[in-house]
Amino acid sequence: MSCRFCGSAASPAFVTDLCLSREVTKPLMECAACGSYSFSPRPTGPEIATCYVDDYRRDFFRTHAKNKRRGAALARSYALGATGRFLDVGCSIGSMMEGFREASGWDVAGTEFDGECVSFCRSKGLNVTQGLLYDSADLPAPFQVILANNVLEHEPDPEKFLKAAHGLLAENGKLILTLPNGRVDAYPSVQLRKKGNERVTTYNEGHINFFSRAGVEALLSRSGFQVEEFKPFHMKLALKKRFLLPGSERKNKRTCVERLTRPILPHSELKSIEVQASHDFLSTSRKASAVAMTEVFSRLAGFVSLPSSLANDFRIVCRKNST
Ligand SMILES: [Zn+2]
Repeated sequence: MSCRFCGSAASPAFVTDLCLSREVTKPLMECAACGSYSFSPRPTGPEIATCYVDDYRRDFFRTHAKNKRRGAALARSYALGATGRFLDVGCSIGSMMEGFREASGWDVAGTEFDGECVSFCRSKGLNVTQGLLYDSADLPAPFQVILANNVLEHEPDPEKFLKAAHGLLAENGKLILTLPNGRVDAYPSVQLRKKGNERVTTYNEGHINFFSRAGVEALLSRSGFQVEEFKPFHMKLALKKRFLLPGSERKNKRTCVERLTRPILPHSELKSIEVQASHDFLSTSRKASAVAMTEVFSRLAGFVSLPSSLANDFRIVCRKNST
């Protein structure tokens, strides 16, 4: 069987068995050509669903204000005309859409699989369709910009996903992806397993694809995209995952081993998010210094290009090739 990312027919190597969730354990394989990791056999829909029983909405509270600002920043860079359409795939509570709409005046739409998030977005007047991208029939395409922020690593079929995005984009439209560096993302789990822990889970719930840079670039090219920008970021988190910062061992173990035996947290109630968000805005001085630091780091990164192997995440901007 060929690598579902780079397409190479080279035999994949068994790395270790890893828990997808409390119930499901699968062999993790490494592509001999591109170095990406994936589970084989591919997890089924019901198996993937077991990854989302714990409160995966908890971070939506924490990141609402930040994501709204990110959406606005995205609009300033990529909403080039006075009118246009923007799609956020896996839009959760719609934070990026709100920021993008406010900054650009464009029409915005989203897709999201979680029904409560969909209702929550609709209550705020956002046009959100429930389901996976390739199952959503009524999207107001074509879009000039499609965002998939931390989505591809969760997708049961990344190639089908990218081809669907290609079909929904306007000519020369942009697809903006953020995703973890798979080699770093899988590292703590693989190491903890090697260190003798019997049951080890993925660092983040629901991650089933672990793309190397070569793997994701090959897949994008095969799906009709040309990469225009490739930015590795989040170096500090990568150092933690590689056990190189003080306290990393403890943190990685809590995340990948002890999580399997902790009680399951019920999903957060979405109605309190606006309250949480206003709290977030209250601490403006702390926010301002965090924003300033981010700015400094991003300028530095402009001078010193970070090798992709040292980054926890990739941000990729690609253009739709004409068909
Ligand atoms: Zn490969």
